[in-house]
Amino acid sequence: MSSETLKRNLPRFELDEVRSVARELYGIRGKFSSQSSERDLSWKVRLDDGDTVVLKIANAAEPEAIVDFQVRALEHIAARNERLPVPRMVASANGRPYEWIESRGGDRHILRVLSYLPGDVIETRADALCGRMRFALGALVAELDLALRGFFHPAARSNDHLWDLTCCLELRAQIELLADAELRALCHQVLDHAETSVLPQLQQLRWQVIHQDADGRNALVDSNDPHKPVGIIDFGDMLYGPIVAEIATIDTTAEDEPDPVGCLCATAAGFDSRLPLEEAEVDLLYDATLIRHASNVILIGARDAIDDSHGYLSDTGKYADILRRMIDEGRDRATRRIREACRFPVYASIAQHETSAAAGYDALARKRTRLLGEVVHFYERPLHFVRGEGPWLITPDGRRYLDSYNNVQQIGHGNAHVAKALYRQSSVLNVNTRYLCDIVADYAERLTADLPDHLNACVFVNSGSEANDIAMQLAQFATGRDGALIMDEAYHGCTETTMELSPEVSGRFDHIEYLEVPDMYRGRFAADADAAQKYAADVERALADLAQRGHQAAAWMVDTALCSNGVAMAPDGYFDLVAQRVQAAGGLVTADEVQAGMGRLGDFWGFRAQGLEHVDMITMGKPVGNGHPLGVLITDRALIDRFAALIELFSTFGGNPVSCAAGMAVLDEIERFGLVGKGVEVGDYLRAQLRELARRQPLIGDVRGKGMIVGLEFVTDRERKTPASAETARLIDLMLAEHILVGKSGPHHNAFKMRPNFAWDRAQVDLFIAALDKCLDQLTRQ
Ligand code: PMP
Repeated sequence: MSSETLKRNLPRFELDEVRSVARELYGIRGKFSSQSSERDLSWKVRLDDGDTVVLKIANAAEPEAIVDFQVRALEHIAARNERLPVPRMVASANGRPYEWIESRGGDRHILRVLSYLPGDVIETRADALCGRMRFALGALVAELDLALRGFFHPAARSNDHLWDLTCCLELRAQIELLADAELRALCHQVLDHAETSVLPQLQQLRWQVIHQDADGRNALVDSNDPHKPVGIIDFGDMLYGPIVAEIATIDTTAEDEPDPVGCLCATAAGFDSRLPLEEAEVDLLYDATLIRHASNVILIGARDAIDDSHGYLSDTGKYADILRRMIDEGRDRATRRIREACRFPVYASIAQHETSAAAGYDALARKRTRLLGEVVHFYERPLHFVRGEGPWLITPDGRRYLDSYNNVQQIGHGNAHVAKALYRQSSVLNVNTRYLCDIVADYAERLTADLPDHLNACVFVNSGSEANDIAMQLAQFATGRDGALIMDEAYHGCTETTMELSPEVSGRFDHIEYLEVPDMYRGRFAADADAAQKYAADVERALADLAQRGHQAAAWMVDTALCSNGVAMAPDGYFDLVAQRVQAAGGLVTADEVQAGMGRLGDFWGFRAQGLEHVDMITMGKPVGNGHPLGVLITDRALIDRFAALIELFSTFGGNPVSCAAGMAVLDEIERFGLVGKGVEVGDYLRAQLRELARRQPLIGDVRGKGMIVGLEFVTDRERKTPASAETARLIDLMLAEHILVGKSGPHHNAFKMRPNFAWDRAQVDLFIAALDKCLDQLTRQ
């Protein structure tokens, strides 16, 4: 770019000439007052009839197509959103949108007339500058961009001008015109980063026709309420560009503003409130704004140097100060603040910029303890995650951990379809089940569609515990009994009722009896061909014991994945044999599908995967909402009706349409991607690889499981099956060092309880196996 391009070459017309063409071509008479403009001549004309218009004579160098672009854009905006406060075109006496005129020197110029917008230019109102105004201005520009969304024009990409943010590298040569060496270095630094990082990223983002100049000179506020933006003018810099560039140019930062990033946050939040930003856009905003300020510094400084400012924009110092302050704040901090302002999770996507993860960690750990008390964590130093993606969990410094443990985000971390469903439903309606709502009934219909006839109605709650709690209440109501059978070491929840059903974490209770775990690795009948019958016979013993203590079993509640029993694998037929005995004795059977459901065991329903013919109730939790709190109890409508007639059964949040939307989205994903089948394929592969590994790693005692659940038991002596409890604890830490998350279970704490999510492929299995191999080697060498 030569310094010639910097020259403004304003059109040359005397006021008398302008008055006369205005009269001739537009029939306009009135009081003319000149307005400042970068390349055009512009007058505000108070017409004799009281109206006011703006008359513009375009630069001779302005191609007609560019003027046509602006005319068409304004027409488009007016048609899309007539309330948007932008100028309207005023047709000439001949009905044309603009006319050609000739200067005395013989240059041809385009003359056009626009309606005048009342209000004060923000730049003239220091009292306008505040967060509220910036938010509202951001929102107004977003409305403008929404109106421009479907607009295009052949000249939209050829409006070449110096302020086009995506062409900022062309300003490089002009940097040398700046007198201040430190400032030159800063500008080079910004443009270097633009070249290597920002511009290539901008190419990937959303582009459309944008105004690209709604700064303090081109935005108006209400004269009586300067915090209220009432207009956007001057479409001369409009072009086809990235939405990020639009926000970067909505700049109303005062010269002495101590917090320019704060100004940007307010503007971005306002913009985002009308036209939601994408995460990558938010993360580029800081850099784009630096480019804008650097462009200001370069262009104004260069014009000063060649003395072509003539009073129009001559404040390099202001932009240099803002630029310095923004650079001082730094990308990490600034981006966090912008993300926070737009309610994006604060740390989630700025990993590549993260420089102070360690300091941040300590502060967060202290804050958490101070505000939440001591919490049990999986690791001595609890992990700090900021993002989940499919099988991965990611720390602030961008480290990816393979999650083999989490049984909640069953269809993968950060599932976009679920997130969208939550957002879309909550943007429209969220009420409780006391109102009619389509999605709630639709979801219940979909959940029960392939269940046996008697499992035909849902009670929606917010957690697995609540679902089990109500299931227990229903069973007690239906049978008039107060007792229950559960598996030894079971876990069914954290409410008072379900705590009593959770010996894994609580004590033992008189009205509960505990069935022997049908462990086929180290149990009593592990080697017995008749193991199913023999384990199931424990029901008689349990019922008798209960009776002795004066109780009868209202129900048998069972997690068919036997998760808290180290993912024990029951012999074929066991579950059904127990169910038959319980039912014959007048008890109900509740399949707790919190762990086993939603395809975990290779069938959508855990009870089916385990061959349980008849269950009276199903309870669901964790994976139903893929992380969104949602619990479901499914049973016979008649039973629910009878119970509800006695006790008003209601949960405020249970069955709210937002939760149901999440549930629906999870079902969509499971069906669309055949996730249950995929789980079987990947789970089988995982077990096969583990068995292969067991051939050279003697610590592996047993590999078991079904679908996407695996129990991996470690022993120091395979013959004696001596639990390798200490080694298992050590292995968990070694695996952590390999960036793999595992959890343990079982009475001896010597089994990995693996519940990979359905985003796992064979590649993740291979990674897991290689890491485990390495860790087992390390362990045996120690
Ligand atoms: N049942 C089973 C089998 C579970 O594993 C759990 C949770 N670990 C629950 C019920 C309780 O679910 P929630 O934590 O959602 O209340």
